[in-house]
Amino acid sequence: MTIKEVQTTCCYCGSGCQLLFKTDTKANKILEVHPVQGRTNDDKACLKGWYGWDFLNDPQILTRRIRRPMIRRNGKGSPLEAVGWDEAVKFVAENLQKVKDKWGPDSIMGAASARGPGNESNYLMQKFFRAVLGTNNIDHCARICHAASVAGSRATIGEGAMSLSIPEIEDAEVIFNIGYNAAASHPIVARRIVRAKEKGAYIIVADPRVTETSRIGHLHLQLKGGTNLALTNSMAYVIINEGLSDTEFIKAHTRDFDEFKAIVQDYPPEKIGPIAELDPEDIKTAARKYAGSKHSVILWGMGVTQFSQGVDVVKSLCSLAMLTGNFGRPSTGTGPVRGQNNVQGTCDMGVLPDVFPGYQSVADPQMREKFARAWGVKSLPDSPGLQLTRVPERVVHEKDPAKRIHAYYIFGEDPAQSDPDLAELRETLARIDFVVCQDIFMNKTTQFADAILPATSWGEHDGVYTSSDRGFQRIRKVIEPVGDIKDDWEIICLLSTAMGYPMKYKNTEAIWNEMIDLSPKFTGATYEKMERQGSVQWPCYDKGAHDRGTMYLHQGGHFATPDGIGLFKTAHYHPPAEVENSEFPFTLCTVREVGHYSARTMTGNCRTLRNLEDEPGWVEMSPRDCRTLGVSDGDLVKIISKRGAVISRCKMTERVKTGAVYMTYQWWVGACNELTISCLDPTSRTPEYKYCAAKIEKIDDQKWAWHEVDTVYSRLRTEMGVPEKAVIQ
Ligand code: SF4
Repeated sequence: MTIKEVQTTCCYCGSGCQLLFKTDTKANKILEVHPVQGRTNDDKACLKGWYGWDFLNDPQILTRRIRRPMIRRNGKGSPLEAVGWDEAVKFVAENLQKVKDKWGPDSIMGAASARGPGNESNYLMQKFFRAVLGTNNIDHCARICHAASVAGSRATIGEGAMSLSIPEIEDAEVIFNIGYNAAASHPIVARRIVRAKEKGAYIIVADPRVTETSRIGHLHLQLKGGTNLALTNSMAYVIINEGLSDTEFIKAHTRDFDEFKAIVQDYPPEKIGPIAELDPEDIKTAARKYAGSKHSVILWGMGVTQFSQGVDVVKSLCSLAMLTGNFGRPSTGTGPVRGQNNVQGTCDMGVLPDVFPGYQSVADPQMREKFARAWGVKSLPDSPGLQLTRVPERVVHEKDPAKRIHAYYIFGEDPAQSDPDLAELRETLARIDFVVCQDIFMNKTTQFADAILPATSWGEHDGVYTSSDRGFQRIRKVIEPVGDIKDDWEIICLLSTAMGYPMKYKNTEAIWNEMIDLSPKFTGATYEKMERQGSVQWPCYDKGAHDRGTMYLHQGGHFATPDGIGLFKTAHYHPPAEVENSEFPFTLCTVREVGHYSARTMTGNCRTLRNLEDEPGWVEMSPRDCRTLGVSDGDLVKIISKRGAVISRCKMTERVKTGAVYMTYQWWVGACNELTISCLDPTSRTPEYKYCAAKIEKIDDQKWAWHEVDTVYSRLRTEMGVPEKAVIQ
């Protein structure tokens, strides 16, 4: 047996933990994995880090690895046929060209991947869309999670990323967690919060549920869902009217304070208390505590961003930090903590409809000229492209065929599981003329594919991820890929070359070097520096060893806006788009689960993790609601909204308020996105996953219901190609 040790970055959340793999190279098998010292994790990992690699063994529990390219040679409705790469590439290239010639470049949409592939493949994906297809219609799943953080932070402080670093959290004096259950989303970040508390920090948690994070807090603001903006405006009211603002900081480093002050004057705690279901004294305490330190940190997650007012809340949070002078020093600032392992990196690479890599605007002629020259094309498209959440609007609801999306290239994402209002999404995918999926596993979206291109997974290729706190870190090949599969970047190169734009790179480092030379904020972050330091946080402008990167942003109150001045902004609160009513008396909110990840094709194919939880998931309900409906803990119940109905298990818990129910989004049978609403924030176009109206029905015949769950689950797995013998585990 030949043993090899390889260190890499965890593929699950944005904490960026470092893991050491021991492999038997002869058998091409992983023998053991354990966490090692890293900038963000010390030497710790959560259960996904310890046990989340088993999918590399392809145990075919949930679905199956794609090992060969497949095409529907005879059009929609014909079976998928396994073919060689030459034929698959020709098929995809010809069909994309056909759509481009007939309907124009903007009839093609791309969704890239914040998951396994890494920054280099994402850089090439946006280059392929812009330089070869000629459109800015390229986006990724930040759209459905933290796009509101990017939009709201850039509008106020000029930079959309965390202003501080994960390790700095533990030296904060006050931590205001809003809409963020770190224990479920980023356990290693939660560990820093616990350490901060041990060192004496005051912890405020604003969350409608009792969560693991709220249980370690000193003050839990158990507000009504959807009232974040009422709360943050009210905190600003208290800070301003009690004279707790940092007037020096405001004067020296910001503008538009008077407009901000005028809006928040409508939000005295006595008025907001009944709206947000909070004690006005608790709002005052939170505001006083937050304003009482120069090492106050705000951390937020999707409980802020996944609302139709998400951008306004982010602006308001950045304004709270400016109001109190909480920027520009260690252990202070704002922390939109990115969920998936590389959602920060995929934004960094310009996989967004309005920016090139390094957040350089596509609307800026100088930037277009720079990238066009570097990429060897005459011109690049100048108008921002389409956000991926608007694809249904441009397919199902668009009457003019010339304005529709006719081709969709989906790379490492599963919108048929992760997007809101799945019935509409399925109709969208079914109506698009040509759908390409490039992925590692069969999933709900590949069922709509006209061509499937099999890619290597995390653990089977090299590259770079960006952690939530702007840290570039290497990922490395741990085992050899099995089957006729290729790295994502190689597939994009083949397609590009087949479409008349030869793309050739020796390895991921060659791609990285091209990218950093075009992106001033990243120029100093070479592979060599990452190897030496372990992690390089951007901005890092200089390749010299003296520029080690940047731990925290906005030093000395100098913001990343064009003139260095921060802009105060907020808005008036309004309720969510679809509120509870007599027919649908519950509010439904979607949340995370610590043992599973995203659309579950990876964690659902890991034996240990799958054994923690399985279909049809669960719906959290209050004991009082359970009593009223006559259901018990563990019973299957039906959850219904205007858009659909699913079956899930009732989890009776004191943690939720009466009238509110919570589901996680990993489940195929208990798929909460059958119920969610596609109402979008007007700026970020992020869906309002956190609030819609629902009703719960008791199921009298539990035996029938379990049979139904088993039947649907088995059918789905069989459709994904899991052999019958493997279906019953
Ligand atoms: Fe992986 Fe995140 Fe867990 Fe760390 S905290 S081991 S990065 S899932």
